[in-house]
Amino acid sequence: MARTEPVGAVSLNAQGVERDELEVDVLLVGAGPAALACAIHLKRLLQAAGKADASLLVLEKAEEVGYHILSGAVMDPRGMRELYPDWREQGCPVEAEVGFDCVDYLRANGKKLRLTGALVPPPLHNKGNWIVSLYRVVRWLKERAEAAGIDVYPGFAGAQVLYEGERVVGVQTRDAGLDKKGEKKPQFQPGMNIKARVTVFGEGTRGNLAKGLIAKLALDQGKNHQLYETGVKEIWRIPEPRGKELLGSVIHTLGEPLGTSGYGGGWIYGLSESRLSIGYVTGLDHPDARLDPHALFTRWKQHPEVARLLEGGEILRYGAKTIPGGGYFAMPRLYGDGFVLVGDTGGFVNMSRLKGIHLAVKSGLLAAETLAEALVRGDTGSQALSGYATRFEGSWAKDELWKVRNFRQAFQSGFFAGMVDAGVQLVTGGRGLIERRRPAADHETTRAVTAARQEKPAFDGKLALDKLTDVYHSGAIHEEDQPAHLVVRDPDICVTRCTQEFGNPCQHFCPAAVYEWPHADAAAARAAGGVVINFSNCVHCKTCDVADPYQIIEWTVPEGGGGPKYIDM
Ligand SMILES: Cc1cc2nc3c(=O)[nH]c(=O)nc-3n(C[C@H](O)[C@H](O)[C@H](O)COP(=O)(O)OP(=O)(O)OC[C@H]3O[C@@H](n4cnc5c(N)ncnc54)[C@H](O)[C@@H]3O)c2cc1C
Repeated sequence: MARTEPVGAVSLNAQGVERDELEVDVLLVGAGPAALACAIHLKRLLQAAGKADASLLVLEKAEEVGYHILSGAVMDPRGMRELYPDWREQGCPVEAEVGFDCVDYLRANGKKLRLTGALVPPPLHNKGNWIVSLYRVVRWLKERAEAAGIDVYPGFAGAQVLYEGERVVGVQTRDAGLDKKGEKKPQFQPGMNIKARVTVFGEGTRGNLAKGLIAKLALDQGKNHQLYETGVKEIWRIPEPRGKELLGSVIHTLGEPLGTSGYGGGWIYGLSESRLSIGYVTGLDHPDARLDPHALFTRWKQHPEVARLLEGGEILRYGAKTIPGGGYFAMPRLYGDGFVLVGDTGGFVNMSRLKGIHLAVKSGLLAAETLAEALVRGDTGSQALSGYATRFEGSWAKDELWKVRNFRQAFQSGFFAGMVDAGVQLVTGGRGLIERRRPAADHETTRAVTAARQEKPAFDGKLALDKLTDVYHSGAIHEEDQPAHLVVRDPDICVTRCTQEFGNPCQHFCPAAVYEWPHADAAAARAAGGVVINFSNCVHCKTCDVADPYQIIEWTVPEGGGGPKYIDM
């Protein structure tokens, strides 16, 4: 019999431990919109095929479903409507229908230039879309999944993929109860081996399991590098008269503070009569070694045209997350022996619209149709599951992503070049000026520290909050006596090459003050053990895993349940 071997890039689980084993028909990792939509639709299809007793299990690393979900969010209802044609009548939670949209170009002189109506670039038209809290939407989906007989286990983090040869046969969950040094504490609970006929990876952006899987099976062979952005978000309570005025408004901003130095921009969404969702997205292919998405977000809030909307208000929540924005050419192969990739894990994001929810749901539906057929036939091999990719190629999701296939890459040639190309793409069906652009990976774009320019804002504790105050508003907390889930594979590089070449950019790019570099010089750094990692602050955005120029930081899962509490994000 083939050996079942756990394979992960970095193993934080104890070795040689006896583990409980659980067998299910379908294991779905991650309770986001992609995996939950997949589970619900698959259950339906299997019931219709007389397989009502098939077992489906969804694993979620957060303590509660939704706690690790962060989005803008303006939802294009197309995906949800396919899952539930009467989604509104069924009670899918929405905050407001989009009533007004515009693009503001924020100028360095504190003023703005507003584009409305026909002047708004077509991808940013939002009439017919809905402002939602994705947290609330996934909790609603979770209730429906459970009502359909699907098991949902929050607090269980998938730590390693289980393989038999190249076939995925399930996932091992993270051990609980190891101390800082990896020794067992009295409450030690080994992770389970969960075996499945097919595993659905719906881990969202830069999944820790998917990263190892994509590398092991070369699922990204011939594909573009995935490109990521970090989105930093806050929810604010604002005075009601202004909240009422902004309810249902979708404002996107370009210009300050990034200007033309890189890809990025801001959003302001009118959530309710007294709440705003605000955020700033920064492309991680920016060359500055001091790139700090939190600092850019803060400077954006300080722009007079943004600050006046927040005046008299207060912060309610904070969070950050990366977005895989590379588009069609960066999507990995979506299937293999015993597995499929859905949602952000499969690269289903339309960056020109800053939208992925409808595509995540659609990917879940397409995967479900293929999985149902495969399970009924009793063949979940690579060939059988390739039907998922075929379905995708014939779907509106492919059409949508094909029309923006060169969008994000074009901005690596500079902001203006990107804007011009994006315009040409609109009239050439997505081709743009070059048939297929091949961008550098984000971590390859960082220039020497001597060229670093970015400034830190002045924090005032009200509008401009420092990282630690913001982290407090994310609710992030981890058991402190456990091995750090942020693993630096070659710590020597931090005190030698990185200090000199890039000035330890982790201390800047992390939006949660996880990484500190309080050392005067390399000798002091070496004596103090190198970079300080405050892993308890981690908000699970994965920026470090993406942006580290040497790719020696590995984001692995902490004990299940640890992390932010993104209520309503
Ligand atoms: C700042 C920002 C703004 C955005 N704005 C919009 C918008 O306005 N409109 C829009 O349509 N889209 C928007 N998006 C994109 C959209 O949120 C995503 O495309 C969508 O959420 C993807 O769904 P998903 O199910 O693939 O992943 P997610 O929603 O990320 O869900 C993945 C789930 O998997 C869990 N998980 C991960 N790894 C593991 C593991 N190893 N074990 C167990 N559980 C695990 C996570 O905790 C999470 O709950 C935005 C994204 C960001 C970051």
